[in-house]
Amino acid sequence: MKKTRVYLETFGCQMNVADSERAASALHAAGFDLADSSEAAEVVIINTCSVREKAEQKAIRRIGDINRGRPDDAPIIGVMGCVAQLEGELLFESAPSVRVVIGTGATERIPQLLRRAEEGLGRVIDLGERRSETFEDIAPSERHSKHVAFVPIIEGCNKFCTYCIVPYSRGRERSRPANEIIGEVRKLLAQGFREIQLIGQNVNSYRPKSEVGLEKFSGATPFSKLLRAVASTGMPRVKFTTSFPRDFHADIVKAIDENENLCNWVHLPVQSGNDRILRAMRRGYRVEDYIRRVDAVKNARRRIALTSDVIIGFPGESEEEFKDTLQLLERCRFDGLYIFKYSARRGTPAAKLSETVDESEKTRRFLALEELQMTIQRKIYDDLVGAYVEVLVEGQSARSAADVTGHTSCNKVINFRGSPGLAGKIVNVRVTGSKSHSLYGEVSNVL
Ligand code: SF4
Repeated sequence: MKKTRVYLETFGCQMNVADSERAASALHAAGFDLADSSEAAEVVIINTCSVREKAEQKAIRRIGDINRGRPDDAPIIGVMGCVAQLEGELLFESAPSVRVVIGTGATERIPQLLRRAEEGLGRVIDLGERRSETFEDIAPSERHSKHVAFVPIIEGCNKFCTYCIVPYSRGRERSRPANEIIGEVRKLLAQGFREIQLIGQNVNSYRPKSEVGLEKFSGATPFSKLLRAVASTGMPRVKFTTSFPRDFHADIVKAIDENENLCNWVHLPVQSGNDRILRAMRRGYRVEDYIRRVDAVKNARRRIALTSDVIIGFPGESEEEFKDTLQLLERCRFDGLYIFKYSARRGTPAAKLSETVDESEKTRRFLALEELQMTIQRKIYDDLVGAYVEVLVEGQSARSAADVTGHTSCNKVINFRGSPGLAGKIVNVRVTGSKSHSLYGEVSNVL
């Protein structure tokens, strides 16, 4: 019997990438084939993101495109991820070609849901919770990279920042058992992966029901114990993202100091440099609390790269309050910054506030922030010229066939002369040039 081919298309964050990997593994195990394009598939599943309006609209537009492109042999279209969870039944009305709606807790049940859709049982929807705390295995071939693997450690969020939809789309925080995480990292190491990234909305809010697997490790919080436990597996590189500022304990920096394989990069989203706006966002910390954490990172033995997120144009943000964010940038000197223009997400408390910053003013603030960040970033990147950095080679550079590309342990993109055979190797590279977002170098030695 010919197997049904499924094409999975993923929008959004690393959690969505990890969910798609899990879905692909479950589908394979249940006898489905995975297709390389929507045209070659009988079933197309769009894994959606709702954090920003643009991402949501992009996914909905994509559904329309798929249908228009195949008027005579329309595939079964399924929607999974955050938009599926939030919109539920409404998706059948707003996008009538959708036949299957798969909530964020239903990833493990995708094969059964697709079978029901194939049997022609009308519209199929599952917005139920995850049935188990444990995660199914992901086959190495379903991972997004052969060398870097995402390992979810916590799902959902309890913080309820007033602008954010995640606690509604992903539910409350659920931490994965530590022994299962450590087991997965060991398996990945045996399969040849060279880097893992522990992922979650707020990794440092990690609180498993029991500390089985962490007994032998010291740490001020379960997360810093987990970092030490994962480092002890011998995985060559360990990164983690995202960290929530209020829960960022200085012991995390200590763990990085103690373990070479914990990479020197921390992503710590600040969102605003003004206390009133932080309160209105319900972030749970003040600017001075944030700076204390930044100082802990900056005082580490190794230089730890620090990146952040900022939202500009939150309802009520005055010019003076915006200037506080500019000032914070000068103070923190981030290695990288994601700047977002505020956009109201339906169903969040902030959506009830009247917007006071119009689009052109948001653009002006965005550009001012970007200009300052570029000046800071340029200097940080320039200062690296002449230094030696450790790089995991990921493959050939898209820009030049003679070059390979990878990320440094401080999470910067770097390109250098080398053959594709270096992919998966960790090499020492001398930095010879810099741009605002990437470095250039030459291999010194293969580690
Ligand atoms: S911490 Fe705030 S911004 Fe981050 S996912 Fe939770 S609610 Fe959203």
